Amino acid sequence: MDDNKFLEKCVKKAYKINKAFWNFDIKFNVRSVLTRKDMDKEWEGKTQKWMVAFAWNKKLIIFAPSVYEKLGCHKLESYQDTVTHEMNHLFYQKFVGTYKPLWLSEGLATNIQKEMNIKIKKINPDFLLYTEKGWHKKSYEHSYLAVKLLLDKLGKKKLLHLLKKYSKSPKKDNYTKLFGPYLKVF
Ligand SMILES: [Zn+2]
Repeated sequence: MDDNKFLEKCVKKAYKINKAFWNFDIKFNVRSVLTRKDMDKEWEGKTQKWMVAFAWNKKLIIFAPSVYEKLGCHKLESYQDTVTHEMNHLFYQKFVGTYKPLWLSEGLATNIQKEMNIKIKKINPDFLLYTEKGWHKKSYEHSYLAVKLLLDKLGKKKLLHLLKKYSKSPKKDNYTKLFGPYLKVF
């Protein structure tokens, strides 16, 4: 299958999965790139070796399927998951108006993928960061588990309601007020 067809198929599926979760529509553009240099250009800076895609400003940028394995560290089997993950960020950004808190947007994006294999058993709130400052590879696992727990405990409707409240003033003090009590029980 050629790059464009493969990508289009994944984007369609990712949109369907995310729309079912968020229950609204978004407008976005998808662009696939063929080199790390082009990825850096889109990112407007040097990207990490593990970075194979990102979503920002209504844009989803990803390595084309034909170079995805070579330029990143993932197998092509994970391509759909990556598109679904990034698509979740676009919905989140539309819903909340920011990507912050990072652990919540990453937690939701990892939860919408297939089951994540994690090694940790307990959440350490120190890894649940508001911004990318100090973000660690392990932060993904902690964020995944924290959001999974919140979804189990509160349900999707309540969690989205909480996020909507936060979106009225998406700043750290409002975040602390709304989510602080949950961080304490983790
Ligand atoms: Zn992400």
